[in-house]
Amino acid sequence: MPTSPAEPAEPAEPAESAESAEPAAAAYDIAVLGAGPAGLSAATAAAAHGARVALLDAAPRPGGQYWRHRPADDGAAHHDWPLFQRLRTAAHTHRARLDHLPGHAVWHIERTATGFVTHALSDGAPREVLSRTVVVATGAYDRQLPFPGWTLPGVYTAGGAQALLKGHGVVAGRRIVVAGTGPFLLPVASGMAEAGATVLGVFEAGRPTAFARRPLTTLRAAVKLAEAAHYLRTLRRHGVPYRSRTTVVEAHGADSVTGAVVARLDDRWRIVPGTRRRLECDTVAVGYGFTPQTEIPAQLGCAMDRDADGSLVARVDTRQRSTVPGVYVAGEACGVGGAGLARTEGELAGLHAAYATTGVRPDPHGVARLLRLRAARRGFAAALHAAYPVRPGWREWLTEDTVVCRCEEVTAGAIRHAVRELGATDPRAVKLCARPGMGLCQGRVCGYATAALTAAHAGREVTEEDLRGLASRPIAQPVPLGLLRDPRSGTMPHHDEESQ
Ligand SMILES: Cc1cc2nc3c(=O)[nH]c(=O)nc-3n(C[C@H](O)[C@H](O)[C@H](O)COP(=O)(O)OP(=O)(O)OC[C@H]3O[C@@H](n4cnc5c(N)ncnc54)[C@H](O)[C@@H]3O)c2cc1C
Repeated sequence: MPTSPAEPAEPAEPAESAESAEPAAAAYDIAVLGAGPAGLSAATAAAAHGARVALLDAAPRPGGQYWRHRPADDGAAHHDWPLFQRLRTAAHTHRARLDHLPGHAVWHIERTATGFVTHALSDGAPREVLSRTVVVATGAYDRQLPFPGWTLPGVYTAGGAQALLKGHGVVAGRRIVVAGTGPFLLPVASGMAEAGATVLGVFEAGRPTAFARRPLTTLRAAVKLAEAAHYLRTLRRHGVPYRSRTTVVEAHGADSVTGAVVARLDDRWRIVPGTRRRLECDTVAVGYGFTPQTEIPAQLGCAMDRDADGSLVARVDTRQRSTVPGVYVAGEACGVGGAGLARTEGELAGLHAAYATTGVRPDPHGVARLLRLRAARRGFAAALHAAYPVRPGWREWLTEDTVVCRCEEVTAGAIRHAVRELGATDPRAVKLCARPGMGLCQGRVCGYATAALTAAHAGREVTEEDLRGLASRPIAQPVPLGLLRDPRSGTMPHHDEESQ
């Protein structure tokens, strides 16, 4: 967990550096970016402590990935729904100070002498929000591994299939294979089985029993274990087999998926010879964990670290402060660890950002309790990452023709050629030579695989620098070209070169 050395639980002085400057034109004390568990917790805690808060989210409804729901949803199928309701009620109670701005996709943020300008796109129109501080709570997205056939219609990310079900009540298919690694596969598979799909199996590439080697962490996470047991019972009730050290290594079909090949894996995730078998299916849902969404901290020049799962995450201290004054980061943007951890970090960020801007001191006992919770939840997350690592053998599932970057249709062979024949030994150089990551998603889908393949062909491990090069995007969301002209100066919004 990337934190600075221990600090007193109770903040010393109300404000420092940029946060203490006169607000001048800032309409808000705090702009919270993202209304998931972390952002909602931050915004409500800050507003309750007297701060004027803008809560921006690209989505039409609050809740983020964890509490994604439909308009008339009663929450019956959701975990922790009463807690979500409490947060919504708190947001409503403090509405005089808390503006929820749904449908606001933040694409750029810049520092000014007195704070920050957050640039968002709402209904196609530009919107600027001025604030003295920001809390970045933008969550994470699915981490994908390519395999032959993964670009066929009918192959979903596990998170995508889950989002379809929770956000739209749509089951991704009728005969579904769920594969990848990590405990997230369990709610995805059981949700689809409960919704009437035939789930042909959950194929876990890793060895979940590795988790049992950490009995202390396991015991401390009794609630999480009970949750997993609940999903396993649901799967058993629907007759869904759960197989470890097995995964989908190929998807077949002409216009869409008609079958998936699953195979046993060895300790390095190489295919065990003679174990391939084909399952007839119309849908494959695959997930290999998540990648923190760090474009905005990167834009702002925040220092990054590598987390236990190898992802690049924003570095924060015990008050959730990044290394840039006035910028707080909470939730999965500073390390994938689940909704509980995101809530805890969000509350800490909200309390401290409010203290820095309004001088309202948070209750030191409350802060100490949150810090204990954060440490326990980070510990559990680290144990999960250690139990469900992505092993390097997946690279051997690919053929030369396997597409790695689906936006620009760049194959594994083209990446190999760029490294071995053209001498491009880091992902940025490979991007220039072969175009992976140049398309609409800007490397969100293929970035992990491109970095791993590049490093392997160059005969080395993936470095922090590789990931930093892929995470740096001056524009965090796709925007129309016309928006890049700053209406005030006719130029692109100022972009600090050093922040990349
Ligand atoms: C697709 C997907 C589905 C998931 N489903 C589940 C699940 O069902 N159960 C579970 O336990 N965990 C799920 N997770 C894991 C989940 O990320 C965490 O457990 C938890 O939601 C993290 O909370 P958070 O507040 O850090 O981020 P999130 O909940 O991801 O919230 C981040 C919010 O930021 C917003 N945002 C991001 N970038 C921008 C931007 N540039 N401009 C404006 N808004 C922005 C997003 O719209 C989102 O609402 C899912 C993850 C993903 C990626």
